[in-house]
Amino acid sequence: MTTIAFIGLGNMGNPMAANLVKGGYAVHGFDLIPENLVIAKEHGVVIMANAVAAVKAADVVITMLPAGKHVLSVYEDIAPKAKKGALFVDSSTIDVESARKAHVIANRHGLLSIDAPVSGGTAGAAAGTLTFMAGGSKEAFAKAEPILQPMAGRIVHCGDDGAGQAAKICNNMILGISMIGVAEAFVLAEKLGLSHQALFDVASTSSGQCWSLTTYCPVPGPVPKSPANNGYKPGFAAALMLKDLKLSQEAAQASGAVTPLGAEAAQLYALFNAQGNAGADFSGIINFLRGAST
Ligand code: NAD
Repeated sequence: MTTIAFIGLGNMGNPMAANLVKGGYAVHGFDLIPENLVIAKEHGVVIMANAVAAVKAADVVITMLPAGKHVLSVYEDIAPKAKKGALFVDSSTIDVESARKAHVIANRHGLLSIDAPVSGGTAGAAAGTLTFMAGGSKEAFAKAEPILQPMAGRIVHCGDDGAGQAAKICNNMILGISMIGVAEAFVLAEKLGLSHQALFDVASTSSGQCWSLTTYCPVPGPVPKSPANNGYKPGFAAALMLKDLKLSQEAAQASGAVTPLGAEAAQLYALFNAQGNAGADFSGIINFLRGAST
């Protein structure tokens, strides 16, 4: 039986590990937070004393950690102790430079590796319908694809080392910008006396159509399941949107890309977070815009 080490059993990692157990894999898990280990054990994960112990017998090692510094520090610890020929998969959302460094650490120890961040949030993690965007060699991707299957709705090989993280931050820069655009349109509609439903009915079938409008509408009513109907509970927290927008801006600076709207979106989400909204859904930015425009 294939054994998978899962390091980082938080909001995303725990349901992902649970789906691997359901998929028939032996999962050896570790997290720094004891409460997360209790939940993982209930899902059938074998709890290990530390990350090194978790990877010793593992054919595949998956990490789901907060940021690049955590991934690199864990990789430095575990790569020398991993089984010969093991595959390393990092599904955390991190900066492209750290992702490439993580590949270098894995390769230095003769390990195959892919960066494979995800989209779909905690609901997608629980349902096993995440979109994985993978970067790495064809050989590493071919080995990773069947392992990711129990957690995935879609798996895309985006290119070489770091390409998965590049796809993730480009996608989320579109998302941050488009949510602000949709929210601004609803704020303007309110000022012009146009109903939310009327704007939705027109824009959702016109050139203004986008995911932020039709799936995640920032006003209550037109899309009953959007967080706006649930007091802007996440969903996708504003703190995570800010993290991803900052990553996009770091990447833009490092690569010389011109992204003025991405920069503006990062600034607006920084202000929204600073006003105590870090734990709110990112579509709640509409309330911030209403405040700013009155
Ligand atoms: P989380 O904070 O709930 O989980 C991260 C876990 O990593 C924590 O439980 C923490 O204790 C653990 N950890 C940190 N350092 C560790 C170490 N050295 N060894 C072992 N465990 C360690 O965060 P999350 O929401 O699960 O997100 C994880 C990653 O997935 C982040 O990079 C995030 O940006 C990304 N992501 C999150 C979402 C979402 O909706 N939550 C969606 C897509 C991507």
